[in-house]
Amino acid sequence: MALAVFNTLSRQLENFVPLDPHGKKVGLYCCGPTIHDFAHIGNFRTFVFADLMRRYLAYSGYEVKHVMNITDVEDKIIRRVREAGTSLKDYTAKYEAAFLEDLKTLACLPATDMPRATEHIPEIIELVEKLIERGIAYKAVDGSVYFSIEKYRGCGCTYGQLVKLNFEEMRQGERVSSDEYEKESIADFALWKARVPEDGQVFWDSPWGQGRPGWHIECSAMSMKSLGNSFDLHLGGEDLMFPHHEDEIAQSEGAGVQEAGKRFVKYWMHGAHLLVEGKKMAKSLGNFFTLRDLLAKGYAGREIRYLFISAHYREQFNFTLEGLESARAAIRRLDECLGKLREIAGSTPVQPADPALLEKIRAELDHDLNVSGAWGEVFIFVSQTNKSLAAGEINEVRASALLSFWAEADKVFGLGTGALPSEVPAEFQDLLDQRQAARKAKDFKRSDQIRDELKAKGWVIEDTPKGPKLKKV
Ligand SMILES: [Zn+2]
Repeated sequence: MALAVFNTLSRQLENFVPLDPHGKKVGLYCCGPTIHDFAHIGNFRTFVFADLMRRYLAYSGYEVKHVMNITDVEDKIIRRVREAGTSLKDYTAKYEAAFLEDLKTLACLPATDMPRATEHIPEIIELVEKLIERGIAYKAVDGSVYFSIEKYRGCGCTYGQLVKLNFEEMRQGERVSSDEYEKESIADFALWKARVPEDGQVFWDSPWGQGRPGWHIECSAMSMKSLGNSFDLHLGGEDLMFPHHEDEIAQSEGAGVQEAGKRFVKYWMHGAHLLVEGKKMAKSLGNFFTLRDLLAKGYAGREIRYLFISAHYREQFNFTLEGLESARAAIRRLDECLGKLREIAGSTPVQPADPALLEKIRAELDHDLNVSGAWGEVFIFVSQTNKSLAAGEINEVRASALLSFWAEADKVFGLGTGALPSEVPAEFQDLLDQRQAARKAKDFKRSDQIRDELKAKGWVIEDTPKGPKLKKV
């Protein structure tokens, strides 16, 4: 079986065949954050989904170029910069750094390329110029440049590839200048926004006068620069499907830069919404969480990551704190099982993983990244291993092979290993070392004292060929 993905363009499951004639290289773009604030867990669910896809493609042998842009200029950011009375760079630098730190906490691999919009103004201008040359974009009286949906459709192009649109409601000549708008207000959208007093010092020179780019054109310019005019995969949250992604297609295909018969993007994949306690997350509802809010509650990055990838990306996800508690318990079960295997394996040389076990995981993930099915297989593995452990049926060679299975599977899951419950906390290990020192110095009184202290705290000393070890009572 090979990888098949649900393509929003066709609303169907399609076999994944990369554009690369050698079938090796894969280009993947996922819209990055708008760095106007700390990113919330809804944003992170999308980034973890993109990371899972990227890891699985790499695991499947593809050479993945993963591009994630940083939107460091758009409406919301400009508003915040104005309110904060600071410069664009000073304002966004803080949130960009926080975002990258958060990605690391969630064990998301760094993107191959992370272009910033403000560093691609020439490419953006060039793309707008191309659209003007082709008669698809026009300069309005205020000096802004708009994309003409009518002219685009007149060229035989389709506006509304990802979503169904009702053009009856569209009023000719109507324009929308804000970066975000509803389907009901489809209209010519801004590619370049002429400078207004509220923009403060945020502006660049252009052939149409001073101004700044619209949000949508930023992604078209940066994705095509990094991945070429046609690339394999574009991922994002379903909230970006309209207008952002639809406009990305219109701008990129409207520029007519693709080879005949090729689209801007071959496969579009969209992650479903995240709800909190069954409701849309909103600051006004008090159910709004940034990643940092959850870390402050004592949850670890890997617990949050596990929760995000415990469900299929196209399933609407209902986030609850109870769900996070269950994630913690599931990971503990896995960690405990692996910890026991590690104890048995000791320093046995690494053994190859059982291909049949890995095949089960692959079969699930090949089916549109069915991660919940893959976890099902992992937890069957945990139960069976626990049974065999209890029956004393696992020797060091078998233990090492089972650990190799997890090491392989975890290349995709990216959960890593946390502090294992069977590991000795540092303070007790210190006491054990002190006891050894006391014994060496023949201070048996002190040595017995430490032994009793450890026992009172639930640890006994066991003599092993490798020296004394602590064991939980
Ligand atoms: Zn984008």
